[in-house]
Amino acid sequence: MTAYAPPLRDMQFVLHDVLGVAKYSNLPGFADATPDVVDAILEEGGKLASNVLHPLNQSGDREGCVRHEDGSVTTPKGFKQAYEQYREGGWQGLGADPAYGGQGLPTVIAVAVTEMFSAANMAFGMYPGLARGAADAIHAHGTDAQKQTYLPKIIAGDWGGTMNLTEPHCGTDLGLLRSKAVAQGDGSYKISGQKIFISAGEHDLTENIIHLVLARIEGSPEGVKGISLFIVPKFFVKEDGSLGERNSVSCGKIEEKMGIHANSTCVMNYDEATGYLLGEKDKGLRAMFTMMNEARLGVGMQGLAISEVSYQNGASYAKERLQGRALTGPKDPEKPADPIIVHPDVRRMLLEQKATIEGARAWMYWSALQADFHHKSADEAERQRADDYLGLMTPALKAYLTEKGYWHATNAQQVLGGHGYIEEWGMEQFVRDARIALIYEGANGIQALDLVGRKLPKDGGRALQAFFADIDQFIADNKGVEELKPFLDGLASARNDVADATGWLMQNAFSNPDNAGAGSMDFLHLFSLLCLSFSWAMLAKSAVEKQKEDASDPFYHNKLATGKFFLARILPETKSHLAKLKTGAEPLMMLAAEAF
Ligand SMILES: Cc1cc2nc3c(=O)[nH]c(=O)nc-3n(C[C@H](O)[C@H](O)[C@H](O)COP(=O)(O)OP(=O)(O)OC[C@H]3O[C@@H](n4cnc5c(N)ncnc54)[C@H](O)[C@@H]3O)c2cc1C
Repeated sequence: MTAYAPPLRDMQFVLHDVLGVAKYSNLPGFADATPDVVDAILEEGGKLASNVLHPLNQSGDREGCVRHEDGSVTTPKGFKQAYEQYREGGWQGLGADPAYGGQGLPTVIAVAVTEMFSAANMAFGMYPGLARGAADAIHAHGTDAQKQTYLPKIIAGDWGGTMNLTEPHCGTDLGLLRSKAVAQGDGSYKISGQKIFISAGEHDLTENIIHLVLARIEGSPEGVKGISLFIVPKFFVKEDGSLGERNSVSCGKIEEKMGIHANSTCVMNYDEATGYLLGEKDKGLRAMFTMMNEARLGVGMQGLAISEVSYQNGASYAKERLQGRALTGPKDPEKPADPIIVHPDVRRMLLEQKATIEGARAWMYWSALQADFHHKSADEAERQRADDYLGLMTPALKAYLTEKGYWHATNAQQVLGGHGYIEEWGMEQFVRDARIALIYEGANGIQALDLVGRKLPKDGGRALQAFFADIDQFIADNKGVEELKPFLDGLASARNDVADATGWLMQNAFSNPDNAGAGSMDFLHLFSLLCLSFSWAMLAKSAVEKQKEDASDPFYHNKLATGKFFLARILPETKSHLAKLKTGAEPLMMLAAEAF
């Protein structure tokens, strides 16, 4: 019953007008990404998303994945054919290295396409998403032989990939990990142990699956310093690249869960499975972080994507559903009642979604562009700065956008009233699907600690200082533009609140680390609101400029009106986060554990 229409105009506005992707044609891959090419890619990707993937979203949820007695797993009806279309369309290799068969297009374009696939069908999008993450980790840490063996097949979409961290007794605290690896003397290892909750661990979409597995080599230190990363293929790969025998890794069970039923969440058993070290011995967590950072951005994108699809369905219902009359008198007197879009509270729910989504899209794409600068710029200072930005933004994008994704899905459900709670309308599925994104890839509380404890103080606070300098420059460059004044004032105020919060943490976290822990989520929200207000200032600047070229196009007027809603009704939350942060640890730590 739900529908998904790719928000092409909004995506194009961000890519072409706000970020001006075409102006970076000096970077590898960008010269091929002319606006026409980008628009054609978005349109084609949009068709696959709305015509093929979205129609399978609800049926996939109802049917779920099935594990058979031999441990094989069947995905829901239609998934295999849809994946074939995805693979044949070359979507998996869009942003990948041409040396291994990729198209080498900018990451920012690949990320925009991912938005549509995740929005259309989150569970489907996870299969290729995890494979891309595995390919990135092999690309960054693999030997030449490993890259030649695995990358072309993963990039072509022929093989899948997974990340295997979690064990029954260890999720957040990977130092407790028990899976073990025993060297065989021929460069390979025998991997034994059980991994749980492994997304896309077993399925029928690809002919092989390349598992990346964390395990401790016999004799390595306890804790996080003794963890290594291994490539464990489901089927061995022969010298000529063809598939050999089955490795001793199997799916013992698939979990029954709240949402994303069409993605197989597997218990994976490694019974002396053969694995190959990826990267350095005992440095596995660092190598896995390559995959996790990409995956964290991907999960942040899931939050944005589920916000978009929920919003679209809530908004179209609100324009059709007739209930009550507008407080200011009938708006549609010919009909028995007005559509519920006339009611301010319904508009509040929808606009909170719309304003966050549009700001978040600019924030996400801007961050993806930093990934391009980081990987492709010839200028070392620019590469380092982009890396700093990515490090700073990743935990905030992951945690803020997933929290909002869940909240937006419930608010869109609320717009449908009781119908939102009924299965056939499809809104409750968005709520169920959205929920996991707050938990996996590092639960959101852990992202907040990462931001406050690692990313803020890293290199003497260099990343945040550079971000402040960019914001100050933007304000200085645009302060003569009257229409932008409210956006610049809002941005300056949020910037000062973040500076205030950072100063408070610097003064109070050393004496009592719980002060940092207690304020970490408020800081993450405050910082995210600063990022959104910067995005909105950039969106407004482009809208004002474009409006001068074409005053009749309502798109720019609507953009500015939505931005003003953000300033009036969302940005003030910074004050409450700042106030809560400054109360420190005491209100949280006063109670003894027994009192809970
Ligand atoms: C559907 C699904 C798919 C998944 N896919 C994968 C996958 O593909 N690969 C994989 O390896 N794993 C996967 N996971 C596992 C997931 O990443 C973990 O569940 C997650 O990391 C949390 O670990 P945990 O469940 O053990 O919770 P715990 O680590 O026990 O944490 C419980 C709570 O305590 C909080 N907490 C823990 N430690 C701290 C601390 N030091 N400070 C503050 N708060 C803390 C956490 O934030 C969390 O809220 C998946 C899980 C699910 C449900």
